[in-house]
Amino acid sequence: MNNKEKIEAINKWQKCKFVHQLTCGKEKCNGVLEGKEGKGQKLKDINSKIYIETYFVYLDCPKCGYGQYTIPKIVYNLNYEQFEKLEKFLNE
Ligand SMILES: [Zn+2]
Repeated sequence: MNNKEKIEAINKWQKCKFVHQLTCGKEKCNGVLEGKEGKGQKLKDINSKIYIETYFVYLDCPKCGYGQYTIPKIVYNLNYEQFEKLEKFLNE
């Protein structure tokens, strides 16, 4: 799964009515988190002094700017199509 696909999965999770939305962990904020791509650096290997750029997905709070860097794996593994079908069925 690439970062674009991960962000899409996060967006689907946040819109899904059958799961608990990911919200900001800061006290009294409760902002609805958004999937974003961040850029970082890491050592190419343990002995080198060469840094390579890395891109990662994190959760950003649009309300207070807090970043959450751990994302539950279930967000990426959920079968969203099933939930979309269920939602359609319930709305008919
Ligand atoms: Zn927040």
